[in-house]
Amino acid sequence: MAARNRKKRKIEDNETGVPFACGFHRPTPKQSRKAIGVFPIPTILEPGPENLHFREIPSPKCEDDWLAQYNEEGQSFKYFLKTNPWISGRRVKYAKQKFIPDGKNLKERYPDGKIYVQPLGDFDDGNNSDCSPCIHDLADYTERFYALPVVVLPEMKLKIPTKKGSVICWQDDPSEETNTRKSSRVLSKQRELNHRLSHGHIQLKVDSIHALLRKLIPDDALCLIGLTMADPYEDDSDLFVAGLAAGNQRVAVFSFARYNPCLEFSTEHWYSIWPSKQIDLKTKRQMVLQRSCKLLVHEIAHLLGMDHCIWYLCCMNGSGHLSEDFAQPIYLCPVDLHKLQHLCGFDIVDRYRQLLEFFKRHDMKEEAEWYQSRLEFIDNES
Ligand SMILES: [Zn+2]
Ligand SMILES: [Zn+2]
Repeated sequence: MAARNRKKRKIEDNETGVPFACGFHRPTPKQSRKAIGVFPIPTILEPGPENLHFREIPSPKCEDDWLAQYNEEGQSFKYFLKTNPWISGRRVKYAKQKFIPDGKNLKERYPDGKIYVQPLGDFDDGNNSDCSPCIHDLADYTERFYALPVVVLPEMKLKIPTKKGSVICWQDDPSEETNTRKSSRVLSKQRELNHRLSHGHIQLKVDSIHALLRKLIPDDALCLIGLTMADPYEDDSDLFVAGLAAGNQRVAVFSFARYNPCLEFSTEHWYSIWPSKQIDLKTKRQMVLQRSCKLLVHEIAHLLGMDHCIWYLCCMNGSGHLSEDFAQPIYLCPVDLHKLQHLCGFDIVDRYRQLLEFFKRHDMKEEAEWYQSRLEFIDNES
């Protein structure tokens, strides 16, 4: 989500007056339909009359919007089948686990494969006024979204410096440290994190978080996701990055630091953050959970070889800034749903029911209504 590598733009007329990035062409409804590919039960992926459930991707509203900056080519289902490393004949790079080359999907090919979640620093349990999401709710959502096992690893503590120039590092469980004192000192040296500190705010540089995660990744991991409430950045020119995957190394880190709806963030200075509106606790928690769920599954999808979506409004659309991110829907469009179904081998209707149950449990009405309505559509059409 960092605003970098901006491409030159040319002025084109469209309904908002903000042009798409140079070279980008919004797909026609026919092209989007074609990108879905052929599914054995067509109704399940049918967009519905007048795009009832899946709307066309909108024109950019401001020049920082994703498609005003990037010329995304779009990844159709057919292209995904040809290029996805998880379903190719070879084992994925760096994977050390059992591999069955002729398995039909991820589950059959990597039968021990799991998604690991590593909390980095403090999270609350979702029940106090602090605005971090509950890790176990996020893991539950991810499991329902992918129909793959999700394992939450014990939290690593973050030692925050109070002065400029002091060291910042991750710490293991303190009980382990007393047993192996010397080695833990060496270990914590290895776990020093690059960071910047200004006006009382700290940001962590993602490269050193990636380096830590690469050391921690279990052999049977499909991927390892570091989650943190700390605020990361990649390059000095970034305001922040919400999430970043490390190439093809199956690790990524994501931060929920900027998902608190009661905070306002400067678009000029990374360290400038201030309280904005008051929101009641229940709404605030739901907003944080909704935003965090969306970010987490979006980024895991990238690790599993899914690109940004240009076909419909979708949780795989790219986002150039927070308000664009927040406006995107929580569900997958039919193109990406087909890809994920092929990759993970789940039953789409079962998965929809699982997700509906999650949203009902968390009293997330809008999300629950979408899934309910989609299930009714599929039921009526079949
Ligand atoms: Zn993305
Ligand atoms: Zn999509």
